[in-house]
Amino acid sequence: MITITNKTDCCGCGACASRCVTSCITMAPDEEGFNYPLVDTDKCIHCGLCERVCPLLHKPQPHEILAVIGCKNKNEAVRFVSSSGGFFSLAAEKSWDVRGQSSGRPLTTTGTLDISLSQAAMQ
Ligand code: SF4
Ligand code: SF4
Repeated sequence: MITITNKTDCCGCGACASRCVTSCITMAPDEEGFNYPLVDTDKCIHCGLCERVCPLLHKPQPHEILAVIGCKNKNEAVRFVSSSGGFFSLAAEKSWDVRGQSSGRPLTTTGTLDISLSQAAMQ
Protein backbone atom coordinates (compact mmCIF):
# COMPACT_ATOMS: atom_id res chain seq x y z
CA MET A 1 0.00 0.00 0.00
CA ILE A 2 1.33 3.42 -0.96
CA THR A 3 2.08 5.62 2.03
CA ILE A 4 3.56 9.02 1.38
CA THR A 5 5.53 10.27 4.36
CA ASN A 6 7.79 12.58 2.38
CA LYS A 7 6.41 14.48 -0.58
CA THR A 8 9.74 14.29 -2.37
CA ASP A 9 9.03 10.54 -2.69
CA CYS A 10 6.02 11.20 -4.92
CA CYS A 11 5.78 13.04 -8.24
CA GLY A 12 1.97 12.90 -8.26
CA CYS A 13 1.83 10.90 -11.48
CA GLY A 14 -1.24 8.96 -10.37
CA ALA A 15 0.02 5.60 -11.65
CA CYS A 16 -0.75 3.99 -8.30
CA ALA A 17 -4.33 5.26 -8.38
CA SER A 18 -4.78 4.05 -11.96
CA ARG A 19 -3.44 0.61 -11.11
CA CYS A 20 -5.31 0.03 -7.87
CA VAL A 21 -7.64 -2.93 -8.32
CA THR A 22 -10.13 -1.78 -5.72
CA SER A 23 -10.04 1.90 -6.72
CA CYS A 24 -9.21 2.81 -3.16
CA ILE A 25 -6.59 5.41 -4.09
CA THR A 26 -7.70 8.92 -4.91
CA MET A 27 -5.39 11.73 -5.93
CA ALA A 28 -6.05 14.66 -3.65
CA PRO A 29 -4.51 18.12 -3.81
CA ASP A 30 -2.41 19.37 -0.92
CA GLU A 31 -2.49 22.96 0.34
CA GLU A 32 -0.40 24.03 -2.67
CA GLY A 33 -2.63 22.26 -5.20
CA PHE A 34 -0.30 19.34 -5.95
CA ASN A 35 -1.96 15.94 -6.12
CA TYR A 36 -0.86 13.11 -3.85
CA PRO A 37 -2.41 9.67 -3.37
CA LEU A 38 -4.76 9.04 -0.50
CA VAL A 39 -5.58 5.42 0.29
CA ASP A 40 -8.87 4.27 1.72
CA THR A 41 -7.31 1.66 3.99
CA ASP A 42 -10.67 -0.05 4.58
CA LYS A 43 -10.86 -0.98 0.89
CA CYS A 44 -7.15 -1.88 0.45
CA ILE A 45 -6.52 -5.60 -0.05
CA HIS A 46 -2.71 -5.21 0.23
CA CYS A 47 -2.04 -6.57 -3.24
CA GLY A 48 1.03 -4.36 -3.64
CA LEU A 49 0.28 -3.38 -7.24
CA CYS A 50 0.40 0.33 -6.45
CA GLU A 51 3.95 -0.02 -5.16
CA ARG A 52 5.00 -2.06 -8.17
CA VAL A 53 4.01 0.65 -10.65
CA CYS A 54 5.38 3.62 -8.70
CA PRO A 55 8.24 5.16 -10.71
CA LEU A 56 9.80 6.65 -7.61
CA LEU A 57 9.93 3.35 -5.77
CA HIS A 58 11.41 1.66 -8.82
CA LYS A 59 13.79 4.10 -10.43
CA PRO A 60 15.30 3.00 -13.76
CA GLN A 61 18.62 1.25 -13.28
CA PRO A 62 21.54 2.20 -15.52
CA HIS A 63 22.36 -0.50 -18.04
CA GLU A 64 24.92 -1.07 -20.72
CA ILE A 65 23.85 0.05 -24.19
CA LEU A 66 24.64 -2.83 -26.54
CA ALA A 67 24.06 -1.05 -29.84
CA VAL A 68 22.34 1.95 -31.29
CA ILE A 69 21.02 1.71 -34.82
CA GLY A 70 19.51 4.71 -36.54
CA CYS A 71 17.84 5.12 -39.87
CA LYS A 72 15.37 7.39 -41.57
CA ASN A 73 13.21 7.32 -44.65
CA LYS A 74 14.72 9.23 -47.55
CA ASN A 75 11.26 10.36 -48.59
CA GLU A 76 10.87 13.75 -46.94
CA ALA A 77 7.09 13.76 -47.34
CA VAL A 78 6.82 10.49 -45.42
CA ARG A 79 9.24 11.72 -42.76
CA PHE A 80 7.22 14.88 -42.33
CA VAL A 81 4.12 12.96 -41.26
CA SER A 82 5.99 10.30 -39.27
CA SER A 83 6.97 10.15 -35.64
CA SER A 84 9.72 7.58 -36.23
CA GLY A 85 11.64 9.09 -39.11
CA GLY A 86 9.47 7.18 -41.55
CA PHE A 87 11.15 3.87 -40.78
CA PHE A 88 7.95 2.04 -39.94
CA SER A 89 6.42 2.92 -43.31
CA LEU A 90 9.34 1.24 -45.06
CA ALA A 91 9.14 -1.79 -42.80
CA ALA A 92 5.38 -2.10 -43.27
CA GLU A 93 5.59 -1.69 -47.04
CA LYS A 94 8.31 -4.33 -47.29
CA SER A 95 6.41 -6.64 -45.00
CA TRP A 96 3.35 -6.19 -47.23
CA ASP A 97 5.40 -6.98 -50.34
CA VAL A 98 6.84 -10.13 -48.78
CA ARG A 99 3.82 -11.56 -47.01
CA GLY A 100 0.83 -9.62 -48.30
CA GLN A 101 0.26 -8.29 -44.83
CA SER A 102 1.53 -5.64 -42.52
CA SER A 103 1.44 -6.82 -38.96
CA GLY A 104 2.90 -3.74 -37.32
CA ARG A 105 5.58 -5.98 -35.86
CA PRO A 106 8.50 -6.22 -38.25
CA LEU A 107 10.76 -7.43 -35.41
CA THR A 108 11.10 -11.14 -34.73
CA THR A 109 11.05 -12.59 -31.24
CA THR A 110 14.84 -12.50 -31.27
CA GLY A 111 14.79 -8.78 -31.97
CA THR A 112 16.15 -9.03 -35.50
CA LEU A 113 14.44 -7.49 -38.48
CA ASP A 114 12.35 -10.07 -40.25
CA ILE A 115 12.56 -8.21 -43.55
CA SER A 116 15.30 -6.73 -45.65
CA LEU A 117 15.07 -3.12 -46.68
CA SER A 118 16.90 -1.79 -49.66
CA GLN A 119 19.69 0.57 -48.73
CA ALA A 120 18.45 2.92 -51.42
CA ALA A 121 15.27 3.47 -49.44
CA MET A 122 17.02 4.28 -46.16
CA GLN A 123 19.92 6.35 -45.04
S1 SF4 B 1 -2.15 -2.44 -2.16
FE1 SF4 B 1 -3.56 -2.92 -3.84
S2 SF4 B 1 -5.59 -2.47 -3.05
FE2 SF4 B 1 -4.13 -1.50 -1.65
S3 SF4 B 1 -3.92 0.60 -2.39
FE3 SF4 B 1 -2.33 -0.60 -3.41
S4 SF4 B 1 -3.20 -1.29 -5.37
FE4 SF4 B 1 -4.90 -0.59 -4.04
S1 SF4 C 1 2.77 6.07 -8.43
FE1 SF4 C 1 4.25 6.79 -6.88
S2 SF4 C 1 4.92 8.77 -7.68
FE2 SF4 C 1 3.02 8.25 -8.76
S3 SF4 C 1 1.38 9.21 -7.54
FE3 SF4 C 1 1.60 7.12 -6.80
S4 SF4 C 1 3.04 7.27 -5.07
FE4 SF4 C 1 3.22 9.15 -6.25
